[in-house]
Amino acid sequence: MPTYKAPLRDIRFVMDEMLDFPAHYAQLPNGDEASPEIVNAILEEGAKFTEEVLTPLNQSGDAEGCQFNDGEVVTPKGFKEAYKQYVEGGWPSMTQDTRYGGQGLPQSLGMVLNEMICSSNLSWGMYPGLSHGAMDALLHHGTEEQKELYLTKMIEGSWTGTMCLTEPHCGTDLGLIRTKAEPLADDSYAISGTKIFISAGEHDMSDNIVHLVLAKLPGAPEGSKGISLFIVPKFTPDANGEAGERNGVQCGSIEHKMGIHGNSTCVMNFDNAKGYLIGEPNKGLSYMFVMMNAARIGVGIQGQGLAEVSFQNALAYARDRLQMRALSGPKAPEKAADPIIVHPDVRRMLLTQKAFSEGGRALIYYTAQLIDQVSAGGDAGKDADELLGLLTPIVKAFLTEAGFEATNEGIQIFGGHGFIHEWGMEQFVRDARITRLYEGTTGIQALDLLGRKILMNQGESLRKFTKQVHKFCQTEEGNSDMVKFVAPLAKLNKEWGDITMQVGMKAMQNREEVGAASVDYLMYSGYVTLAYFWAQAAKVAQEALANGTTETAFYKGKLATAEFYFSKLLPRTKSLVATIAEGGDSLMAMDVDQFGAGFEI
Ligand SMILES: Cc1cc2nc3c(=O)[nH]c(=O)nc-3n(C[C@H](O)[C@H](O)[C@H](O)COP(=O)(O)OP(=O)(O)OC[C@H]3O[C@@H](n4cnc5c(N)ncnc54)[C@H](O)[C@@H]3O)c2cc1C
Repeated sequence: MPTYKAPLRDIRFVMDEMLDFPAHYAQLPNGDEASPEIVNAILEEGAKFTEEVLTPLNQSGDAEGCQFNDGEVVTPKGFKEAYKQYVEGGWPSMTQDTRYGGQGLPQSLGMVLNEMICSSNLSWGMYPGLSHGAMDALLHHGTEEQKELYLTKMIEGSWTGTMCLTEPHCGTDLGLIRTKAEPLADDSYAISGTKIFISAGEHDMSDNIVHLVLAKLPGAPEGSKGISLFIVPKFTPDANGEAGERNGVQCGSIEHKMGIHGNSTCVMNFDNAKGYLIGEPNKGLSYMFVMMNAARIGVGIQGQGLAEVSFQNALAYARDRLQMRALSGPKAPEKAADPIIVHPDVRRMLLTQKAFSEGGRALIYYTAQLIDQVSAGGDAGKDADELLGLLTPIVKAFLTEAGFEATNEGIQIFGGHGFIHEWGMEQFVRDARITRLYEGTTGIQALDLLGRKILMNQGESLRKFTKQVHKFCQTEEGNSDMVKFVAPLAKLNKEWGDITMQVGMKAMQNREEVGAASVDYLMYSGYVTLAYFWAQAAKVAQEALANGTTETAFYKGKLATAEFYFSKLLPRTKSLVATIAEGGDSLMAMDVDQFGAGFEI
């Protein structure tokens, strides 16, 4: 059975040594709450909960899956009890608003816990995970009464939330939504329609489920401009605010999926269900974006968390498994063969996993600081919001692509045993596969990055980020130890702007050029962004080693991983530059009927 140990040393490296979280918290209005003692307690207790409670349920939850019986969903053995412990531990309220029963801690601490949850048991983590996005949407756009009624219960953890967008004919293109909302005399609405693929849409872990549903009012404008957002509770709250009468929303079935078997993915049928409008009519999509942006970062964390757990298990195996001798001669002559970790190709795979996981962690925690700053508001909050908008599709798509590659390498390191269910490595791949799809596929994130976030604001937010990278490179250019990192980083950072200009120019002639370049462009952006964080990690490690640290293995390992990243992963940007430069001609040349010419389907 695979194991998991929360990587607290590396988490502290990023929080304390790379990104100076104590100084970050000192700038926040609620930063006092995040004292070193509290942060430490959260890390220690979070590690204990995820290692001891969630990890043992991961493989059994995958094997057992969710059961569907006549509209009810039974979650795998132990899931319900683990959720109870999570609620008793006060975790759902940790970063929520104190006015509604929250503890008011900075969001970033929730994201650190989330990484541990995603590594230990992604399927379980999606039940409380979906609630977080729903709570954000309610906090920002709900009325005071709605917050009192729903948010308080969700913060307490006794009710959970969902996000109901997708319909059978409507996935990426939400403008196609058909679910209807008819106004009723009492200011509520009758919601009718079918939503599919609703994560945690029905389960047995909480007393009530609060669905946030996108639907159309009569006469609403066509397309995405005519979508409104509604609260549709499974049980309508009674006069005391407790779960009351059963509402007209039912789970019709659950999906049988490639991965995340322990999480229920539901068809939800709304049949004149009582719903309550959030905010103004026809503004639902913008409200839902509050939820979707948080969820996108959350999915990026899923990719990174799975890379981490796969790496931990592959590392243990590579140290233990004896096969063949090192090419340069025996490294463990007393044994029948050398451990496979001596072989360069196995090291390539392990280092790829480590580089993506630890580099991804730094990127996510930086993003977490931006989220804290946005919550704090003011001018700093506005700047942070712009950077956050730029980095969100990179976190979502690049880290899930990297997570999938890392978990796949995890199987490869195990050889044939990786393909066998019992070792648990194939589960990580199956679970990781969905992260590239939901919350907007990689293709859609790439269009968001290049089209909406960069070209539509004339590269302003990209310039803000590349300026920051440039400043770092300039500061370090006189440091001879850092040249091998900052020289290539500075070159790529400049090239990033140049490529953007080139694609932008081509797009003025032909808009298809944006779509043709976008995924390569996103991957390029991801590699350069991670290089910036690996260069910072290298600097901290070099300083610690120069100052005579006693943890030489940790810092030397960090430095060696940075060197690996720069020499073996970052050069992938060269082929991406070449494919971006080729443009869209070879993609668009073929007529649709030529694709399948020669066979009938
Ligand atoms: C396990 C699971 C859980 C989910 N949970 C939820 C949930 O909780 N709530 C919810 O509302 N939904 C949920 N979803 C739905 C998920 O978000 C969608 O499946 C996803 O957004 C893609 O939509 P689609 O499947 O309809 O694909 P489509 O939109 O049909 O896309 C098919 C392909 O075409 C590509 N494509 C589409 N349009 C474009 C374009 N303009 N340019 C380039 N490429 C394009 C896509 O990238 C994709 O590769 C879940 C799905 C799954 C499988």
